[in-house]
Amino acid sequence: MSSTFTSVAVARTSQRVFWLIVAGWLAMAPIASAQVLRRPIPDKLVVLTFDDGVVSHATVVAPLLKKYGFGGTFFVCEFPPDFADKTKYMSWPQIQQLHQAGFEVASHTLTHRHVNKLTPPQFKAELDSIEKRCATYRIPKPTTFAYPGYDTHPTSLVVLQAQGYQFARAGAAAPTTPPPTTHF
Ligand SMILES: [Zn+2]
Repeated sequence: MSSTFTSVAVARTSQRVFWLIVAGWLAMAPIASAQVLRRPIPDKLVVLTFDDGVVSHATVVAPLLKKYGFGGTFFVCEFPPDFADKTKYMSWPQIQQLHQAGFEVASHTLTHRHVNKLTPPQFKAELDSIEKRCATYRIPKPTTFAYPGYDTHPTSLVVLQAQGYQFARAGAAAPTTPPPTTHF
C-alpha cells in the first residue's frame, strides 16, 4: 500500500477550519524528538483527533463522525480567554455527551499551557485539573494527551507516564496541510 494520504476531508465552520487528515500510514510527518514510539503502531492505523474543545466539535464534527461511522478523540481544555463563551467553546455537559456517544475524551491540559513553559509540578497540576473535571462529569480518566501548540519537553514524558498516560500526540505541518492549528 502507498504510504501517501488516502483522503483528506475538510469541514468548514463559520468560525474555524478543521482538517481531518485520514492517513493510510501514521509515519507521515517529521517526528519531534520528544515523540518516542515505545510500542509498534499497527499498519494503516487511522486516528482522528480534534483539539481545543471548540463548540463546533459538538455541533458539527461529532454528528458527522457518527453519521459516517467514525470514532474520534477530542483533546479538550478550558481554552483561555474565552472558554466561558459557549458560542465558541463546548460546555462540560457537551463534552460529557461526546463521551456518552462513544468518543474518547482526552487531555489537552486544563488551560492550554505549553509543556515546555511548565515545571513538572505545574504540568502535573494541569493534568490533575482536567482529570478532576472529567471525574465530575463521569468521564473516564484520560489516558491520552495532546501537546498544546505541539511544544514538547523531555520531562513531560516522565510526568505523563507517572500519571498513567499511554500515548501523547504532538504534531507538525505536513506538506499537504495548512497550518495545523488555527485559533480564532
Ligand atoms: Zn490546542
